[in-house]
Amino acid sequence: MKTRLNDNEEIIYFGRKHWIVYTHAILLAFVTGGVFYLLSMGLLSMLAFVAIITYFYFERKNDIWIITSQRLIDEWGVFSVNSKETPLDKINNSSYRKTILGMILNYGTVEIQSAAEKGSTLAKFVPSPEKFCHAILLAKEAFDKKVECPICKELIRPGAIKCRYCGSSQEQKQEEIENQVNTIEDTQPVNIFKRKEI
Ligand SMILES: [Zn+2]
Repeated sequence: MKTRLNDNEEIIYFGRKHWIVYTHAILLAFVTGGVFYLLSMGLLSMLAFVAIITYFYFERKNDIWIITSQRLIDEWGVFSVNSKETPLDKINNSSYRKTILGMILNYGTVEIQSAAEKGSTLAKFVPSPEKFCHAILLAKEAFDKKVECPICKELIRPGAIKCRYCGSSQEQKQEEIENQVNTIEDTQPVNIFKRKEI
């Protein structure tokens, strides 16, 4: 994959197109090669056959879907590098459909609807499309999970560096809590953490 991951980003799903795309490649290669052969262009026939198979090989190799703990990445292209990213919080819904052949060989089309700028993503010939959709669901669930800011008690993302509500640095949260406790100790005569003297 060509997209660089962030430091705390984890890969949840990695997928390529189902092998069924090779049957398309072989069919197209035979038809194209056959036409050249019938036109008595033997060398061109061979070249066309090899070129089509090679193209499909790299097409499948470079066309990947990655679901990480932060986003969905769609990469593709043989002669160019293309990448489309959808942040998990922008994904609204994912669904899949299978044809009869897809049900037998277990592949299908996955549609990911999002509110992102580039719109929804259509992934074709996905092996086990239900796994793809489930991975999106799991990733989204984990992403949406929130923890309480120790300072202002608003809900923020786990691992956040800064609280978006009160602006407090979460790395120093422990230090700040200790400071607060110290302040209480300084100003109030009774230490709440000590047993009351009778
Ligand atoms: Zn806060």
